[in-house]
Amino acid sequence: MELDKSVLGKQRKNALNWDEFFIGIAKLAAGRSKDPSTQVGACIVGHDNRILSIGYNGAPNHFEDEKFPWGRDGEPNDTKYPYVCHAELNAILNYPGSRKDLVGAKIYVDLFPCNECAKAIIQSGIKEVVYLSDKYAGTDGNNASKLLFDQCGIEYRQMDEKYQKVLRVSLKPDEPIEYID
Ligand SMILES: [Zn+2]
Repeated sequence: MELDKSVLGKQRKNALNWDEFFIGIAKLAAGRSKDPSTQVGACIVGHDNRILSIGYNGAPNHFEDEKFPWGRDGEPNDTKYPYVCHAELNAILNYPGSRKDLVGAKIYVDLFPCNECAKAIIQSGIKEVVYLSDKYAGTDGNNASKLLFDQCGIEYRQMDEKYQKVLRVSLKPDEPIEYID
């Protein structure tokens, strides 16, 4: 049997592509972060485009947010830096399944990974990093991340400008995602 051709080609044309969908999930995860200055989300995706894990930057488990030093200035141990867990590390450690599932996976993150997360990404077996912002490009840490990825065979690519749409995600019932150009 053949379908009448007039009934074909009616699919919605502005559906999110995979990159947009996964980076959108990462951005939504960033919305969970309690960090007042930087909110980062990460989404790990298997080779078959299934989401394996999600993470965002935050205090380690059981470290109460009210007792956490969220600031960036002052004595080093009075800032967030020695204590905060980054989105990529959380996403890797949050994965409840077998570690072998991460081998060959991709990680979507809205900010290019720091060198500590770069090492965790490499050791987990993830093979590709897709990111939006690279606002620390040229800093020592950022250069170290790129050296690590280059030496260890991790691909990284910034999402193309043509995908940088603005979506308005309403949490009200019956309001679809709105595309704002
Ligand atoms: Zn990091």
